Amino acid sequence: MIFEVTILGCGAAAPTGKHNPSAQVLNIHDKLFLMDCGEGSQMQMRKFKVKMQRIHEVFISHMHGDHYLGLMGFISSMHLLGRKAKLTIYGPQELKAIVEMQLKASQTFLEYPLEIIALSPDEKQCIYDDKSLRVWSFPLKHRIETCGFLFEEKARKPKITKESIARYSLIPSQIIQLKNGNAVVLENGQPLKPEEVCEEPEPPKSYAYCSDTAFSERVIEMVMGCTTLYHESTFLESEAERAKATFHSTAKQAATVAQRSGAKRLILGHFSSRYANDEDFKKEAETVFKTVTLANEGSVFTVH
Ligand SMILES: [Zn+2]
Ligand SMILES: [Zn+2]
Repeated sequence: MIFEVTILGCGAAAPTGKHNPSAQVLNIHDKLFLMDCGEGSQMQMRKFKVKMQRIHEVFISHMHGDHYLGLMGFISSMHLLGRKAKLTIYGPQELKAIVEMQLKASQTFLEYPLEIIALSPDEKQCIYDDKSLRVWSFPLKHRIETCGFLFEEKARKPKITKESIARYSLIPSQIIQLKNGNAVVLENGQPLKPEEVCEEPEPPKSYAYCSDTAFSERVIEMVMGCTTLYHESTFLESEAERAKATFHSTAKQAATVAQRSGAKRLILGHFSSRYANDEDFKKEAETVFKTVTLANEGSVFTVH
């Protein structure tokens, strides 16, 4: 089942020739989720062929411009392009009034339902739940209230191959029983145990997004056990003081979060434009954690 993330922007603060501000699109089981929406995100979606109308949920981490200034454009374009499907936006409490004021000023009456849900910035909260996925928001440690997001697949039932179904002439009710871990009696009177036909499903995968945050023990707790961790690394250790003062992280601190949370892979992003070479972030992080990848505009990462 598909579980991948496309990076639309991974630069800190203002857009540069090298990086766009933060935004990424997750495709989980063919559902698209937009996380943060910095300036230029629509252009990036066009460029990287993201099907915008298929985005039904947007998650905004905080009110710094590099994480949400593209949102109004996205909302407007959806309207101009004839969207009818509902759009739900999860974000800081201040977001709703800002969006409504802009719609009012331009006398825009959206043709599609828009719901803006305020996140609680102090606690871990389940904000989305469907049959195969849960999304949590959780507090980060930044200059203003900021939430990270954790996307968690639900555990799947075991699989039974077509060959097994044919060999034992299983009927649908027996298949359900076996998948639920119960033995069944076949037509010939023989019992059949689940372990004889069931194959273990893939273990559930998860993706954690830590947009802007200082290093924090609490963040490690919040992302504990995630499969892939995206963590900001605005600075290198040489600027550790600046990182602390501005509530951002260094590459080494991001790697420490990955290592201590038991993540399988770390994706670094939110790079400050003061550094000429992004490879330096990777080098520094690798002193603490082995599996490090650098975000880049247009990169697509599969969550294994
Ligand atoms: Zn930022
Ligand atoms: Zn910020």
